[in-house]
Amino acid sequence: MTPSDQAPSAPKPTAPSDLPLSTTDFNQLNLVKALQARLHHLGYQQATPIQAEVIPAILAGRDLLAGAKTGSGKTAAFALPLLQKLVGQRASGGNHIGALVLVPTRELAQQVADSFTSYGAELAPRAKVVAVFGGVSVNSQMLALRGGADILVATPGRLLDLLGSNAVKLSQLKVLVLDEADRMLNLGFTEELGEILKQLPTQKQTLLFSATFPEEVLSLTAKLLNDPVEIQLQEAQ
Ligand code: ADP
Ligand code: MG
Repeated sequence: MTPSDQAPSAPKPTAPSDLPLSTTDFNQLNLVKALQARLHHLGYQQATPIQAEVIPAILAGRDLLAGAKTGSGKTAAFALPLLQKLVGQRASGGNHIGALVLVPTRELAQQVADSFTSYGAELAPRAKVVAVFGGVSVNSQMLALRGGADILVATPGRLLDLLGSNAVKLSQLKVLVLDEADRMLNLGFTEELGEILKQLPTQKQTLLFSATFPEEVLSLTAKLLNDPVEIQLQEAQ
């Protein structure tokens, strides 16, 4: 059999160098079926550019520094791989947390927690997602934290209160996410952040998202991130 015996319609093999640098198809991002099915039901057809870059880096266990404008899909970029990595993995027998997502405001805390719940809706087992933030009674949040959580979304002040009363333990934390890090520092959470960071295990994966990179954010990244993948999408703000 010679090469000329091959059917003319045989697909031409694609050399790796012909592939685009970042895929935009969710089905090429190694997400489990339950997440892919959920995205399909939500009408998400393709990964946004930040998602195509960030999801593989998080699944590979890398630290990450990512900048992209508002509305570029950063929540799903970290929520999808965290759900995949952490569901059913949290330590039992204590109020342990798998991943902590720190956000600057209560509105964002609720919104990010709702996104985790929505993206994870078809996973089995389901992820336990808890949101804690100030301005409301602490009691129901303490109750929600009993037995720990896969994902805790928190504003810094309320998290410190809960740590102080042992309602939550961060010693087994696997992943730390700082969402809107620039806003968090602008709002004056630098000291609270420092207090929280002191209580985290050194062995963990850290992901930092920020729209802008002023000096304060850069010095935080230098302290926190270990050989990070850096992803900057340069579209206008
Ligand atoms: P950011 O944090 O970058 O400001 P969000 O994560 O809040 O952005 O996402 C902005 C909006 O885009 C949300 O309404 C979200 O549901 C939607 N979205 C995110 N990723 C996709 C996608 N791949 N396809 C369609 N819509 C998406
Ligand atoms: Mg966001």
